[in-house]
Amino acid sequence: MFVAHIPDGRARRLVVRTIEIGVPLLAVGVLLAAHLGALSPYPAMAVAVGTAAAVAAARLVRLAVRLHTGGTGFGPCRGAGFLGFGMVASALSSPALLLAPAGARPMVALGGLVLAFALYLFGMTMLPGAAGTVRVRLRRAFDGLSLGISLAFSAWVIPPAPLPPLALIAALLAVVGLPVVTITTLRAYEYRRSAALCGTGAGLAVFGHSLITVLLGSGASAEALPLLAVSLVVGPALIAAGARRARPPGQPPAVPGEPQTTLSAYPLLTIPAILATLSALWHLVTVGAFDATSILLGLAVIPTLVVREVLVMLDIRRYARRLATQEAHFRSLVSGANDLTMIVGADLLIRWQSPTAARLFGLSDADVLGRAFPNLMHPDDAADVTRVLTDVLAGREVPSGRPQLVTARLRDGHGSWRDTESTVSDQRAVPEVAALVVHVRDVSERQRLERKLNELAFTDELTGLANRRELMRTIVTQRAVAGHTGALLVIDLHGMSGINDAHGRQMGDAVLAEAGRRLKSGVGSADVVARLGGDEFAVVTVDRPVLAYATGTRLLTALTAPYPMPGAVLHLGTSIGLADLSGGDGVDDVLRRADLARLRARQLGRNRVEWYDDELEEQFTRRLDLERELPGAVRRGELDLVFQPVLDLDDQQPVGTEALLRWRNPALGTVLPAELLPVAEDLMLLEELARWVLDNACRQLAAWSQRPRPLWMSINISSRELIAPDFVSWVSASLAEHRVEPERLVVEIAEPRGAVDVPTVVTQLAGLRALGVRTALDDFGSGQASLAQLRRLPVDFLKVDRTLVTEGGTREGEHKPFIDVLVSLGKRFGLEIIAEGLETPGQVEQARRAGCKLGQGYALSRPAPAERVEAYLEEFPSPSR
Ligand code: C2E
Ligand code: CA
Ligand code: CA
Repeated sequence: MFVAHIPDGRARRLVVRTIEIGVPLLAVGVLLAAHLGALSPYPAMAVAVGTAAAVAAARLVRLAVRLHTGGTGFGPCRGAGFLGFGMVASALSSPALLLAPAGARPMVALGGLVLAFALYLFGMTMLPGAAGTVRVRLRRAFDGLSLGISLAFSAWVIPPAPLPPLALIAALLAVVGLPVVTITTLRAYEYRRSAALCGTGAGLAVFGHSLITVLLGSGASAEALPLLAVSLVVGPALIAAGARRARPPGQPPAVPGEPQTTLSAYPLLTIPAILATLSALWHLVTVGAFDATSILLGLAVIPTLVVREVLVMLDIRRYARRLATQEAHFRSLVSGANDLTMIVGADLLIRWQSPTAARLFGLSDADVLGRAFPNLMHPDDAADVTRVLTDVLAGREVPSGRPQLVTARLRDGHGSWRDTESTVSDQRAVPEVAALVVHVRDVSERQRLERKLNELAFTDELTGLANRRELMRTIVTQRAVAGHTGALLVIDLHGMSGINDAHGRQMGDAVLAEAGRRLKSGVGSADVVARLGGDEFAVVTVDRPVLAYATGTRLLTALTAPYPMPGAVLHLGTSIGLADLSGGDGVDDVLRRADLARLRARQLGRNRVEWYDDELEEQFTRRLDLERELPGAVRRGELDLVFQPVLDLDDQQPVGTEALLRWRNPALGTVLPAELLPVAEDLMLLEELARWVLDNACRQLAAWSQRPRPLWMSINISSRELIAPDFVSWVSASLAEHRVEPERLVVEIAEPRGAVDVPTVVTQLAGLRALGVRTALDDFGSGQASLAQLRRLPVDFLKVDRTLVTEGGTREGEHKPFIDVLVSLGKRFGLEIIAEGLETPGQVEQARRAGCKLGQGYALSRPAPAERVEAYLEEFPSPSR
């Protein structure tokens, strides 16, 4: 009731603990009092032993139930249960003694003893960690039995006084039971403290109970009984203290350490043998003959020992079989391994090596065992190896906590050096090893492959020259030399794709290889030639600039010389860019600079050598700026048109205008078409620009159509824009949208050049003319003017370049006839000639005299925004047409 009212678990445990300690103490007090005669012995024993044992048994039974429901396993639960019932058995015998008639008391005591004895024995051997298997339990029992019988034999042959049979049985039980309990306790491999407490408790209880039985059996007086009964109180109390929850549920049980702990039982076994022998000798000397009981006891020792030995032998056999299998596993593991395992002592001497030594390194045990491990290594590496080993021995761990690694050359059994890598681990704490364990691995093959790979990683496969990575490495090295000189040449070959297309890749590769050879033989021995990829090569020369440039021109000559190939003689062009090795922020920058110079050489017409300079850099950054800004310029409204009037040279009246594109960017300022158009072409923005120009020109034309003097307007369209399939329909749509008469629009194209398809240009121009739009051929005479083209292209105007209209000087005489011819020819084809770029009144006059009807140029009117042009047009009130 009292316990039930305490809700708190801790307080409840405190109360239980107090009862568990207090009751045995009280019981001992009661027994002592009975011994001193204050209480009568039998009732005192019944109460004291009964209560104390009940408390202890209650604890054990509770524990057994808890173990059972906790699922810790059947063994521990049964163990606790049996111990508990053992207590109950010995506790019940005390009240039974009180109730029994005096004559039956020895019998009652013996009965209780036998029961308690059996239960205790079972309980002890089933406790966790006591004896794991039935086999071990049997062995424990026979150990105890042989010891007990020997003791009994000794006790029988050297008796102080002969015992009555009942007392003898009790004594025998004690003599057999105590050793079993003792051995079980001593051999426990787990929970040794618990085992010691339970063992001592059980032993004490059995011992006390036996003595009580012996006393009762031999008819002694009752006054010693309460004192002996103390053991029946203390024993269960000790068991209760020792019995605790074995292990938290889920934790695996400890594995019995066979065979060291369970088989090495010989010293204990020798005790009973010696005891029995000594007492037999004593008996022979003092008494002489053996009686039947002593002979029987003596003989009983033999079978128990035999059975015990058989059990041990069976265990040893089983264990040996297991060892043999393990050994076989281990052996196959070790000998099949690609490592050599060595056991090295703290003195660095090799104690053992795995059988792989012969197969992997050709090393025999005689070569190795007993030698110092570092002595196997190359003298240059030995110190390093020693250091690592002593580090490991001194416990200086690598920070990562991984085993230490040593790389060293090991002399194999054939006397050659092998690259090895060894891991060292300290196994001194493992008693069976107690040394360093070194795993040696042969890495020579791996390192050879690594070297090979390394080589491959730095050469170009096709030409055998250095590759880009190696080139970078060379530049880095060269830049690091104090006061270094030198230059990087980047070499681009032109015409490779043509060769590949016409003669196949194989021929292309052969030409590249030949180019590589020419480069190699064209440079100094200290220079490095590399192939950067494709048809790009590079040379790092240590020469000063002047010599480097000379090398560049020499290489240019060598590379552009004909390539005689089977079935064809091939030709290549080349552009070479040069940059100072010391310039720039780093290797990448040097490469970029040389590359920029190479681009420059290409732009300037190929087969040239160009140096990098700062101006080039400026152009480059400007170009980057343009490329960044141009996309979106239309959307941001940054494009603009200016207009330059075209005048009739006879009456100086404006007849038309030319729309010229301007890009007004907040960051870049006004960008002129010459700079803008190449960028637009590279960014594929030409079409967008053309449509914008067309649309805005038509809008302006529509705005100006209200004027008293409606002029025509020309727009500039590159041939690339013109050949867009939809171009003609865009023009027609734009004209329709702005309601502009087609004959007021003129489309100017420059002479088609390069890859532009002339027939398509012709078709498109014809299409425009079919709409009513007029066409003009721009810049005539600036390039390789071809009169034949003049005949082929369907145009209405011919814009004659300024260069044909120069005045004065000696060249006047040369040009004059040509422009005359041109004008008369144009007239024959029905073309109107516009002289453009007229900068002086002289040029204007000359053009007029040559027969050019129309003129355009700064001398007449500069290009200007629409409002300015409108103001200008105001000055011409009377319509010319
Ligand atoms: P272009 O068709 O020959 O245009 C005439 C160029 O000469 C204009 O330069 C103009 O400003 C300039 N100019 C006019 N009178 C004189 C003069 O007396 N002396 C000198 N030295 N120059 C004069 P701009 O505007 O820089 O245009 C350059 C070229 O860009 C044009 O040459 C034309 O081929 C092209 N271009 C201009 N606008 C467009 C366009 O909207 N689309 C396309 N595709 N090309 C355009
Ligand atoms: Ca033009
Ligand atoms: Ca022009």
